[in-house]
Amino acid sequence: MNIHEYQAKGILREYGAPVPNGFPIFTADDTENAANALGGPVWVVKSQIHAGGRGKGKFKEASAGEMGGVRLARSVDDVKKYVNEMLGATLVTKQTGPAGKQVNRLYVEEGSEIAKEFYLSALVDRASGHIAFVVSTEGGMDIEEVAHATPEKIVTLTVDPATGVMPHHGRAVAKALGLKGDLAKQAEKLVGSLYAAFVGSDMEMLEINPLIVTKDDKLRCLDAKISFDSNALYRHPQLAELRDLSEEDDKEIEASKYDLAYIALDGTIGCMVNGAGLAMATLDIIKLYGEEPANFLDVGGGATEEKVTAAFKIITADPNVKGILVNIFGGIMKCDVIANGVIAAVKAVGLQVPLVVRLEGTNVEEGKRIINESGLDVLPADDLDDAAQKIVAAVKKGA
Ligand code: GDP
Ligand code: MN
Repeated sequence: MNIHEYQAKGILREYGAPVPNGFPIFTADDTENAANALGGPVWVVKSQIHAGGRGKGKFKEASAGEMGGVRLARSVDDVKKYVNEMLGATLVTKQTGPAGKQVNRLYVEEGSEIAKEFYLSALVDRASGHIAFVVSTEGGMDIEEVAHATPEKIVTLTVDPATGVMPHHGRAVAKALGLKGDLAKQAEKLVGSLYAAFVGSDMEMLEINPLIVTKDDKLRCLDAKISFDSNALYRHPQLAELRDLSEEDDKEIEASKYDLAYIALDGTIGCMVNGAGLAMATLDIIKLYGEEPANFLDVGGGATEEKVTAAFKIITADPNVKGILVNIFGGIMKCDVIANGVIAAVKAVGLQVPLVVRLEGTNVEEGKRIINESGLDVLPADDLDDAAQKIVAAVKKGA
């Protein structure tokens, strides 16, 4: 789960990390009080969307002005002007795709005078099984670009979970960033706070880009991006409240209500599969035969008829779907249960596109019989290869 920058900074502040003061803005009326409370003389007005590259982004509407999604203001009037321009407008950045994202929230922050910009992130490093800090002197830039062009400028260090974060980790970060004296002390303290925040709220990724040194020698987190491990959210009910559904795909929200592992994709063939591995294989084979999948969907091992119906509804509600492939291996799940679920779903939502069903495993004969006798226009398939070729052919014929 991702959250907004202002929410991320709120969490870092609780753990004692240095972040600038600021106020979220939900309606333009909030602006004057926020700007006055911060006092100036410089403010930053920042678009809150779940995507990076806002500073260099462009708004679609001419009324939003020529500047990007992060703007420096030198008067309360300018703060108000930028809020009015940006609120409700659509920001296109490198990460949003061409459609952009509507800016429904802003963040007004006290401006900082930047002397240096660094990069610092923490993530779960699967290779070492440890939490790793990744730091670079090349801050404020696209870190992928830095990794590509000058990999020697990126330093990674891991923290053994048995000891937790130690002073030497902080010293190593300070050294990598070329910080000495009091700034090195600030870096050590920051690393401790960030590690505590990371572990304390079960983060998956924490990225500060840029981490800055101000002109008066203070270390500050100027930007903050956090994503949490969704599997641990049950331990943090207060974090679940930070979820912003307007940032998420409607179909993915609906799927999460039924505990379905669903990810929307750009293609034309809707897929209903059980097991993540089988789902991946199904996407691959669709591509092999020349079409693109419309989604990844793992209905899970113990899917009920209700779950299958919900999954089917989500797939058919997608206007891009030109054909559906159901590919089920009945292990824990029985093929007859799936067959009944598919039929119930088709009866409930109708079927406007070709449907191929491939069943294998427990009670497969019974499952096939149920489908064949249902009178529904289902194309049966014998194996995965056959199923993929049939749905691709049917979609190509319809196109
Ligand atoms: P991003 O473009 O989505 O990564 O948004 P950031 O929060 O990183 O802001 C983009 C850029 O705006 C930063 O890299 C800074 O260069 C600049 N910026 C943000 N806040 C301030 C500030 O308080 N003072 C100054 N001078 N620049 C800022
Ligand atoms: Mn940034």
